[in-house]
Amino acid sequence: MVSSRIGVVAFQGDVSEHVTAMERALGGEGSVVEVRRAGIVPDCDGIVLPGGESTTIAGHLARTGVGDEIRAAATSGVPLMATCAGLIIISKEVVEETRFLPLGLLDVRVTRNAFGSQKDSFEADLDVEGFSSPYRAVFIRAPAIVGWNSNVEVLAKIEDMAVAAKQDNLMGLAFHPEPTEDLRFHEICLDMI
Ligand code: GLN
Repeated sequence: MVSSRIGVVAFQGDVSEHVTAMERALGGEGSVVEVRRAGIVPDCDGIVLPGGESTTIAGHLARTGVGDEIRAAATSGVPLMATCAGLIIISKEVVEETRFLPLGLLDVRVTRNAFGSQKDSFEADLDVEGFSSPYRAVFIRAPAIVGWNSNVEVLAKIEDMAVAAKQDNLMGLAFHPEPTEDLRFHEICLDMI
């Protein structure tokens, strides 16, 4: 990996934490740029779509054309890490969602707020495919993957729902990998470059 440029979509949500986490994962071997308009994503070697409010972020993506740029980049093989609301936005299908159309990249069916109001926010130790020790994941009004196609590799589950999944250059996480010190998911994203 030679000096990568990572774009963090920055309309709304937990942007600064993702920028900091990605800068730490890069360790000086690249730069992070915040994306709020069209024209930046085509020059990025990797893209992060953070959590936040999926209806709001989806609206900004459609209005600015950044959503179309992400779809084009991801389709041409640029690594894309989408977390929480980001996962909802890149999925093929969102259960009972009529306010926006997801980008239709990750071949999964997602339910918003899958863990219900009683479990609004929680942490869980996940056994993740390929990790030698558990990963402490932070879930905030999190979605879950309730269906997936055979081209999708499930990396972690809670009960019968997937909470981390990968499909070629796309990675979708139901939780937030950016508020923790553990950068293993950011590193997977950078390793795909
Ligand atoms: N519940 C939010 C949504 O449906 C996602 C929450 C998050 O990104 N932390 O958009």
